[in-house]
Amino acid sequence: MKIGFIGLGNMGLPMARRLVAAGHDLVVCDLDPAPVQQLVDAGAKAAASPRAVADRAETILVSLPTPAVLQAVALGEDGIAGGERVRRVVDLSTVGPAVSRQVADGLAQHGVALVDSPVSGGVAGATNGTLAVMASGAEVDLAVAEPLLSEIGRYLVVGDEPGMGQVMKLVNNYLSATALAATSEALVYGAKAGLDPAVMIEVANAGSGRNSATQDKFPNQVLPGTFASGFAIGLMCKDLKLFTEDAEARQVPLFVGSAVRQIWQHASDRRGAEVDFTEIVRPLEEWTGTEVRSERDGAA
Ligand code: NAD
Repeated sequence: MKIGFIGLGNMGLPMARRLVAAGHDLVVCDLDPAPVQQLVDAGAKAAASPRAVADRAETILVSLPTPAVLQAVALGEDGIAGGERVRRVVDLSTVGPAVSRQVADGLAQHGVALVDSPVSGGVAGATNGTLAVMASGAEVDLAVAEPLLSEIGRYLVVGDEPGMGQVMKLVNNYLSATALAATSEALVYGAKAGLDPAVMIEVANAGSGRNSATQDKFPNQVLPGTFASGFAIGLMCKDLKLFTEDAEARQVPLFVGSAVRQIWQHASDRRGAEVDFTEIVRPLEEWTGTEVRSERDGAA
């Protein structure tokens, strides 16, 4: 049975690679020919448009950058909805609950189901098959999606309709964004006061300050100065916009959330939306004249 995969970027390419390596018959599509060629070399077939993928595959996974791109790929001209064979779309992107429901409704008019299934764990998780997969959708479609999603990570069902996976993903990314923003301030402060960043990371990870930034992003990206996790700062700003707007629509107050969103937007404006999201620490470093780098391995 052919499986479609549309969107072969930082996340999509390694996820599609895992599916090919597991023996799935993939037909793939991306605006960028380079990752398409890499997958063809690995044994996949190429298709010229989302519709061409949907003419050949019953189940199509998509990993796309923004809500607008998902809408266009699913419902636009030469989009998935016009395809002959497609029965379900498994959306791995972060697009927010409102757009997920809207795309699900649009696809349903063509007899196509949506499994809302965002992921967390970054490029490393996508490469190693260790992502957290947050699936929500109808039972019959989840049953088809489960073996595919289990190839890319830990399959977790969070709801029975599209949109609930997105809510879970926004919960997760708000926590991740907050941890990284707060850890940046904490470590710039400590470094300016004379502490070694690697020592701070080691102690925080042995104590109650540990979080995903102290356990992963700082030791692996910031301290060595690599800043190459594979997640663009503009995409985190997109996620925080989705989170704060949806929380506001549900009348949930966000005292911390408003500040966190502005911190990220400020860093994106200063550094550019394309830079790695671990560069959130850089404006603080420039402001204080204090870099958080260390020759020592700060990993716990
Ligand atoms: P990316 O920008 O690296 O990849 C997006 C891909 O989609 C690109 O290859 C692009 O060419 C392709 N694309 C864009 N428009 C297209 C179109 N009309 N038709 C076909 N292909 C098209 O983004 P990414 O980092 O891989 O993220 C993808 C999604 O996953 C986003 O929603 C992001 O928020 C989410 N996500 C990313 C990470 C991460 O660490 N990078 C982690 C979890 C979730």
